[in-house]
Amino acid sequence: MPTTEQAIVGRGAQEGAQLMREWFARLDAAAERGEPAAYVFVMGSLAEILRAFDMHLVFPEINALQTAVRHVAHEYLGAAEDYGYSPDVCGYVKADVAMQLQGGKHPMGRIPKPALALATNACNTYVKWAEFWERYYKIPMVTLDIPGSRSADGGAARGTPAFESDRRYLEIQLRELIASCEQITGRMFDLERLREVLGYTNRMAAAWQRILELNQARPALFNALVDGTIYLGVLNALRGTREGAEYFERLVEEMEYKSAQGMGTIAEEQYRLLFVGVPCYPIFRRFHEMFADRGGVFVASSYLWFAAGGLDLGFQYDLSRPVESLAEGVLVGVRHAGDAMLFHDRSLIEQVDLFQADGIVYHPVKSCRTVSTSLAGSRKAIMKARDVQCLFIESDMMDRRVVSEAQLKNRIDAFFEGLDSRRLRTAAATA
Ligand code: SF4
Repeated sequence: MPTTEQAIVGRGAQEGAQLMREWFARLDAAAERGEPAAYVFVMGSLAEILRAFDMHLVFPEINALQTAVRHVAHEYLGAAEDYGYSPDVCGYVKADVAMQLQGGKHPMGRIPKPALALATNACNTYVKWAEFWERYYKIPMVTLDIPGSRSADGGAARGTPAFESDRRYLEIQLRELIASCEQITGRMFDLERLREVLGYTNRMAAAWQRILELNQARPALFNALVDGTIYLGVLNALRGTREGAEYFERLVEEMEYKSAQGMGTIAEEQYRLLFVGVPCYPIFRRFHEMFADRGGVFVASSYLWFAAGGLDLGFQYDLSRPVESLAEGVLVGVRHAGDAMLFHDRSLIEQVDLFQADGIVYHPVKSCRTVSTSLAGSRKAIMKARDVQCLFIESDMMDRRVVSEAQLKNRIDAFFEGLDSRRLRTAAATA
């Protein structure tokens, strides 16, 4: 009989990995049966509407990062570059294009073809990427224009006329998306089904917000870089499902148990770190070890905000007005994700205080300008505002040609030496 601790600790990581395998297996079966899918992105997937039509969801960003984690990204990148894509283009796009050129062949199973391409303006690459599917498969493409906040303070507050005008603008677009789905699937839109799906997302959002809060514990309960990436996968892939809601509620249970027992991550927590950017997937495990071996634990990560599709805010849809409220939730969530990228310093200062962080690791990547732009300026602003040690390391989330493990290790070791001597100085000053 396993003890409570054995049964509960690490359950979320194991179940999350299993759920992702099952999700890929379902996509593989859908591809086998020739069932169509909707291709979507994590920032504004509109999973709720698509699920109301029982469409399979494909997240090309998740497919792409999986090729890097499984050490085969270079094969896909090479194929896309041979096809004519520049080495400068986002690695996720190239991995996906190469996969499409190979009939959906993916290390986790075959990916079904799209019947609909859905993009938002959350990243400019999204639109050009979806245009590839539109042309290649001759399918309809819907682009949602989600108004940004246009300011560092989050823009017009909910309930104001300016916010309501943006919300209505988005609601009209969602109604057009619904009409497109009706046309593609030949099914009538079912408002009750949307309500049910939104209810599951509400449960996931509430749980995810709680999990992020719980990680303020000392020691931190999970590593935002490693465990957090598994949780994010489930958050996106199973958004709006009963399975997803139950998974995250069980994860809250695990985190509350760990918190009550004072249990941290596997590494002995010496330094609490924030991570900014996208992880280094080509050497994912090694990258994490370079920090964990020195007692560095990632207690939070900007990735967990901008790739969570807005669920980090815990937004609760009003089920009495599903479409209207969905428009509001998407506006609030995507806008917040955009602000967190554009005004890093504000979000980070808040996180440094909340998580009592000792250091920040900036990881700009060659592939993704959207999350890498302005990081140097952000670092300067943070160092002025708070007494934290910052590390700036550049590599990529897909392309192993620009990942130099030895160079990264040198920089990371020097960062920890800085943290050690800072701690000694503080101890001496207070002795
Ligand atoms: S540029 Fe960045 S945010 Fe945009 S699709 Fe590529 S990885 Fe995603």
